[in-house]
Amino acid sequence: MDTAISFREEYLKISFTPLSLHGIWTGRIKLFMQLFKELSTDKYVKVITPRVATLEEILLAHSRSYVEYVKKSSIIGEGYLDYGDTRSYKGVFEDALLAIGGTTTLAEMIKENYIRAGFNPQGGFHHAKVNSASGFCVFNDVAIAALLFRKWGFRRIAIVDIDVHHGDGTQQILYNTDILKISIHMYYPGFFPGTGNIYELGEDEGYGYSVNIPLPPGSGDDIFIYSVDEVILPLLEQYKPRMIIVQMGCDAHEGDPLAWLRLTTRAYDIFSLNIRNLAEKYSNGRILCLGGGGYNEDNVARSWLLMLINLFNIEPLRDIKDRLRDLNEGTKSSSELWDIVRRRTRELKEELSVVHKI
Ligand SMILES: [Zn+2]
Repeated sequence: MDTAISFREEYLKISFTPLSLHGIWTGRIKLFMQLFKELSTDKYVKVITPRVATLEEILLAHSRSYVEYVKKSSIIGEGYLDYGDTRSYKGVFEDALLAIGGTTTLAEMIKENYIRAGFNPQGGFHHAKVNSASGFCVFNDVAIAALLFRKWGFRRIAIVDIDVHHGDGTQQILYNTDILKISIHMYYPGFFPGTGNIYELGEDEGYGYSVNIPLPPGSGDDIFIYSVDEVILPLLEQYKPRMIIVQMGCDAHEGDPLAWLRLTTRAYDIFSLNIRNLAEKYSNGRILCLGGGGYNEDNVARSWLLMLINLFNIEPLRDIKDRLRDLNEGTKSSSELWDIVRRRTRELKEELSVVHKI
């Protein structure tokens, strides 16, 4: 078995969300693990008990003063770490290290060639910034993983973030690096976090390596797949990543209560098949998959498992994909939305043409 999932019992109790979403956050992981066993995925994918993240790993992406702040808040144990999204409580620091450890353990295993791909369901905290918590995220394991691989000498690391919210923390931490960061997300005035338009392209040697694909509310599978074909795949084909990190937030799913994109398992299926093919071509199949958002337990658990069957390339499990699909696959978008997306895509490709030939 050369693929793995990070899991420890504590993962069923950890969330940095307000209490109103705590049950959903942990419930998705519980349901995913149940589904994983029920469908005998564990015959082909091993479940590993990850270690705790080290301070050295956290400091790759965050300032010492912010880490100290989280440590202190964890002792006081009340309120929020930020403006009112990311809950503080006694032990929040230790819990954050446990969650991030799921990612760094898998990263290490991939580096050592023990596995070629892994998934941390308690990962994908893409909003945490150098100096602050944000959007239910304490430390940014997406950026930490990318910086770990870079430290180990990997060149051409690509991050693809399909969470419905912009991966603003990852972008900020890695803004001036040539680690390729692609985020496809919903974009609309007042929608969290407010960043992620096509003109945020990076700085210095990072210019052209922050790529944002902002989708209007209501966009369906057709628009998502178009963006994958028009922007994500050509960019990755050109970049030829030696390591691929995927933030697999499923809150762009049609049934998600926090946002208004209309993806179904069809979009997730096609996306993950394409990423798998790219990984086979360029990164020896190396993919690190991280959980991210998603606030409808059933949709998240099914979409995660369906994507992993593709991303991990588990041939014998192909048939069970049909048991994971939505009933109403293949949502279509209105012509107004298509006009907006085509225009933005044209503009984005023009901006990127200075750096990439796509
Ligand atoms: Zn999200």
